This record gives sequence, structure tokens and C-alpha cells, in this order.
Amino acid sequence: MLQTRNGKRTGAAMVKIAVDMLAQGMIDDKTALARIDANKLDELLHPIFDTDALKSTTVLAQGLPASPGAATGQIVFFADEAMKYEKSLLVRIETSPEDLEGMNIAQGILTARGGMTSHAAVVARGMGKCCVSGAGSIKIDYKARTMTMSGKTFSEGDWISLNGSTGEVYEGKVQTMNPGVTGDFGKVMEIADHFTRMNVRTNADTPHDARVAREFGAQGIGLCRTEHMFFEGERIKAMREMILSSDTKGREKALTKLLPYQRADFEGIFEAMEGFGVTVRLLDPPLHEFVPHQQATQKELANEMGISIDMVKNKIADLEEFNPMLGHRGCRLGITYPEITAMQARAIIEAALNLKVKGIDARPEIMVPLVGTVAELKNQADIIRSTAEKVFAEKGMRIDYLLGTMIEIPRAALTADHIATEADFFSFGTNDLTQMTLGYSRDDAGKFLPDYLSKGILKQDPFQVIDQNGVGQLIEMGVTRGRSVKPDLKVGICGEHGGEPSSIEFCDKLGLNYVSCSPFRVPIARVAAAQANIKHRK
Ligand code: PEP
Ligand code: MG
Repeated sequence: MLQTRNGKRTGAAMVKIAVDMLAQGMIDDKTALARIDANKLDELLHPIFDTDALKSTTVLAQGLPASPGAATGQIVFFADEAMKYEKSLLVRIETSPEDLEGMNIAQGILTARGGMTSHAAVVARGMGKCCVSGAGSIKIDYKARTMTMSGKTFSEGDWISLNGSTGEVYEGKVQTMNPGVTGDFGKVMEIADHFTRMNVRTNADTPHDARVAREFGAQGIGLCRTEHMFFEGERIKAMREMILSSDTKGREKALTKLLPYQRADFEGIFEAMEGFGVTVRLLDPPLHEFVPHQQATQKELANEMGISIDMVKNKIADLEEFNPMLGHRGCRLGITYPEITAMQARAIIEAALNLKVKGIDARPEIMVPLVGTVAELKNQADIIRSTAEKVFAEKGMRIDYLLGTMIEIPRAALTADHIATEADFFSFGTNDLTQMTLGYSRDDAGKFLPDYLSKGILKQDPFQVIDQNGVGQLIEMGVTRGRSVKPDLKVGICGEHGGEPSSIEFCDKLGLNYVSCSPFRVPIARVAAAQANIKHRK
């Protein structure tokens, strides 16, 4: 033998070879699992481009591979025009909650700005929709309804194609294919479940996403971002009313409108995840994401609230922050406006009790975001507990629930032994923890990260792969210090890293109980969690 090399193979071939060799007794199940590159399973879960068709097209721009898959469609620049074509591709400088419906309709999303945890990226991954974000070389002119890439100008209605797995943008229409999930794929999952220690949960904000994730094998929800539940239709109006209210009375009026929506959503999600824990995170939006930017929407809101459009504009200006990511968000909102926390706690508990009456086993876990001091958590925990007791008394019955916190601010990790005294569980929010530990804005890092990577200053994008030497120390400290006062403290991760194999291995090493990731990454996480356990313990 002169030389050997690893055989290059597609994701489907990788699964088939491993399962065939296992069936023929050439390898055992542990070895079969070791032959699976978890990341490559992605190919089995999303549409891909026809390789022949790809050969006759050109790459016009490169962005971040924000949400995998292949998409081809006609350009639209405004979300409310996504219906215009049978297959549209939404092209935006960046997206905001106002674009949600259009994002849902479009085949894929392309943004010029924003990183791997930008609004477009996170929402698209949740939907399992192809997205390329932060393609900085694209110039978009909303007025002219044109975009320029590599010196070529494209107009609304022109065909382009996106590869969400590589971040490439192609000219024209490129044929896509839906790879089938075969029986071999199921066999790999079965072996993985046999060897795993950590649970795999999902990040899901709708009953539909929860069901999809459960079909992929998710054992609960690790993060339900409640702000994402306010994006659609009438809800966003009530949400805006709440944000723009100048007093408690106005806020309470808007919250009363939001309560039934929330309760119904939670009922749907709890039911879809019956028998498994569902971690509902209290409101954590940077408020600027919700305010209306278009004149017509501002006018509509002014009418609704019975104030002038100028007053609406002034309030929007008031809310503007120099650094919204470090601003009035997370538990800071619930501390300033306790009525928001009370409404959300009520909606969660009422939903769980309504299901109990129907014999459905709902297991709510209420999570407080962006905690940096134990006093913040205690403040919110008091509101949640007293609201829950009030609802129990009103309904004449009780349910068990957990109350925990995100660990996503460095100070929370440093003081985890104090914070654990108020928490039933921790969930590491590694998106924010990375942002705040490295000091890189989640929204703006796309401008310099490619240079850092190409110059070797960073080996990997820390928003995709946990920076084990830096951020990892804080995670380890959080786990150790938290469990020093509560040895059985349940600890998980719900940042985007929860679906990335090397980060999952790191979480397993630290003894986390679960990882949580977007629905379409659940099978990948199941394989990675099993491989990690074999490596560390078997
Ligand atoms: C995080 O910060 O890691 C997280 C999961 O929360 P979000 O991305 O919503 O800030
Ligand atoms: Mg966060």
C-alpha cells in the first residue's frame, strides 16, 4: 500500500456506508457512529442544489451561511410583496419583526448586514429556511428596487439563488433537489440515542416548530423566545402599543390584549411538547426591533392609541438607544415594567392549568433573561411566584413549574453561586455571552470577522463555535459555581452553539444536562451528543 486518503463522500453516502458496514458486521455500532460527521447530516435535512445545474452559474457575492439549504427565486425587496411571485427571495439590508410574514412566504432570505445571530439568521434557522446574511458587498437601493453584486445590477423580479450552507449567492435560477430522509438515517439516530447522555431540546416559538423538532427527536424546548410570538398581525400592534405607552395604565391595557394570544400560544406549544420540559423565556427584545418604521404603520398606531403621529414619532425617538444590545432589554424590562413579567407568568401558568384540565401533561419552566446579579433574578422570581400563587388560588388547582435563568452576562457566570440560590436551572445564552466576553457586537461583527478569520487572528467564528479558551472558562465557572451550592442544578445551553458539534462536545465534557438548538439541527445535535459521551465516558 502506497498511500491512503479519507474517501470524500456526500452526507447520504456517509450514512449509507456506515449503516451498510454495520449490517455486514465489518464494524460495530460505536464505530459506525464515529464515522458520521454530524455537520454533514445537514445535507439530509434541507434542499440542495442540483450539482450539474450549479456548474453553469456564477457566484456573485459571498455572505455568511446563516441558515442552510438551497433557495432559488425572484427578488423582492419588501416583505409585504413576498406573495408577488410564486417563488420569491427576500433581499433586505437587514430584517426586522415587521418582515416576519414575508420571510415565511419567501423561499429564502438574503441580507447585506448582520451576523450569524442577526434577526434574519435566527428567525430563518428557526423556520428551517435558507438564509445568507451579512453579504456586505451587495448594494441595495430600496427606492429604485435594485441591488448590485459584482458590478451587475439586478431588479425586482430577477432570479437569483442562495446557498445557505456556504453563504454563496448565484445569478439566475438554479434547480434544487429535496434529498429524502432514508431508513439508514433513522438507524443512525437509533444508535446515537443508545449512546447519548445529554438530552437534546429545541429552540422553538410556535407549536408548528415544536412539532417539527419533536419529529426530529427533540426532548423538550430549551428556549421559547416569547418576543418572537408577538411578531404577527394584531399582536405586533398590541405589542407596539405596550412599548409606546407612557404610563402603567396604557401598558396594562395593551397587556390585557396580549395575554390571550400568549396563553393560546403556550397551550399549543405545551401540547406539542406534552411530557417534556418547555423553557419559556420572558420578554427579551431590544425594543427598537418592534417599533414601526413606516409612516403608514406609525399613523395606524397613532389612531389606535388615540394620539398624534408626532407623538408616536417622539416616543420612537425616545426609545432609540446608542447600544440597544446593552440597553433596556431582558430582565431590565421586567424590572422597570413588572406588569409585563406578571402578564407573562400568568399566561404560562393559566395555559398549563387549562391543559391539565384536559389531561395534558404540560411542564413549564420559566426563564428570566439577561440576569447579571442575583438581586435582578430575585426581583423577577418574586413577581413570577406571587403571580403563580394568585392563579393557583383563582383556579383552585396547582401544577409544578421550574424557575430559572439564562447565564449570558459574564457577571452571571462569575457569581453563579449566588444566582443559583434563586434558580432551579441555568441555561447558557452563548450568543450574548460571546458578544459580551469578546466585546464583539452580534449585529456588527460581520464587518470585521471575515478579516479576523482570513488573517488567522481567530480560527473560527466565535458566534458559531464556542471560544473554549475564553467564553468556555465562563461556562465552566458557571457550572461549577452553580452546582457548588446546588449539586443537582439542571444546566443547559440555548445559544446557537447548542447545535454545533464541537461546542456540544465541550458542553458534554462540562457535564451539562442538555443542549438546545433550532429544529433542523436536532438530529445533528443528537449524533454529536452521543459521540461526545462515547469520547468522554465509554
Ligand atoms: C443567547 O444570548 O445566547 C440567547 C439564546 O438569547 P438571544 O439570542 O435571544 O439573545
Ligand atoms: Mg441572549
